[in-house]
Amino acid sequence: MAECLFCKIVNGELSSDIVYDDETVIAFKDINPQAPHHILIIPKKHIASVSEVSAEDEPLLGHLCGVAARLAEKIGVAEAGYRLVVNSGPHGGQAVAHLHVHLLAGRQLTWPPG
Ligand code: AMP
Ligand code: ZN
Repeated sequence: MAECLFCKIVNGELSSDIVYDDETVIAFKDINPQAPHHILIIPKKHIASVSEVSAEDEPLLGHLCGVAARLAEKIGVAEAGYRLVVNSGPHGGQAVAHLHVHLLAGRQLTWPPG
C-alpha cells in the first residue's frame, strides 16, 4: 500500500525507532507515547484492521501477541503488567489503517479507557 504510513515504516521509506524485526512482524516506538513504554507491533503485510483479518492471517495475529509478550519481558514490565490495545475503526479510535497492537506500560493504567 503506497500511501500507508506503516507500510512506509516497514519498507524503510519512513524512519522509526525499531525495537524488533522478524520475517513477518516489526515493532517500533510510538511517536506520541501515552505511557513510559509505548511500542507498536505490526504485521509487515498490509492488513487494514482486525476486521480485515482472513482465516489464513489468524496465526499472524497470534504471533503479534507473542512478540508483544516477549517485548514486555525484554523491557522489564512483564511482572508489573502492561496493556495491549487494538483499536478498530472510527469508534475504536483507529487513526492509522494498518493493523497494529499497542503495548503500553510503565505506569498504572486506568479503566475504562476514554
Ligand atoms: P491508532 O489510533 O490505534 O491508529 O494508533 C496510531 C498510533 O500511531 C498513534 O499512537 C500514533 O502516535 C502512532 N504513530 C503515528 N505515526 C507514527 C510514526 N511515524 N511513528 C511511530 N508512531 C506513529
Ligand atoms: Zn500498510
